Amino acid sequence: MSSRQLTAYKQAVLLTAKKAYDEKLMAGTSGNLSVFCRELGQVVITPSSYDYGIMEEKDIVIIDLEGNVIQGCHKPSSEWKMHVEIYKHLPHVGAVVHTHSPYATSFAVNHQEIPVILIEMIPFLKGKLEISPYAEQGSAQVGLNAVPILKRKNACLMANHGVVAVGETLEQAYIHSVYAEDTAKIYHMALSCGQPVVIPGYEE
Ligand SMILES: [Zn+2]
Repeated sequence: MSSRQLTAYKQAVLLTAKKAYDEKLMAGTSGNLSVFCRELGQVVITPSSYDYGIMEEKDIVIIDLEGNVIQGCHKPSSEWKMHVEIYKHLPHVGAVVHTHSPYATSFAVNHQEIPVILIEMIPFLKGKLEISPYAEQGSAQVGLNAVPILKRKNACLMANHGVVAVGETLEQAYIHSVYAEDTAKIYHMALSCGQPVVIPGYEE
């Protein structure tokens, strides 16, 4: 892994974080995202409690799997353990995007999964949006609770917390987080004006 590649990862993390903030998937300093450099065992991740509006490439942090800072002048995201557990347990995952996007998070608060009501859910989310059990914010258990679902799905709703989306690349993980929110928004609207119908063959 060259330093050029790590710089490219830092740029991608920065630009995607700003995009997610602009798209209102993250409020305040909530949410966090990362890319995993598996050959080095290093995670390129957003800093803890840092304003997305003024965030620059130098503010992105690189940590090892124990949370030691390899590069950067800030603490890593307070939810770094969740990212690390996902990378440790899911070899196909190369990036994690975690948001508290409002529509999806409201279903997470209700512990209410979202059935397959939209065609995009099949290719992008791999089926219905399931709920992972609640765990204390910042603990490794948050990630461990999501792993069984993320083995089969590209995103899940974390009880009383938010959304975690994964992908082989950061672009994919980001798109999955966008579809999780879009799905929740449309399901919310559909519930308010009638009875949503599940796509045939997906009524599990
Ligand atoms: Zn969170």
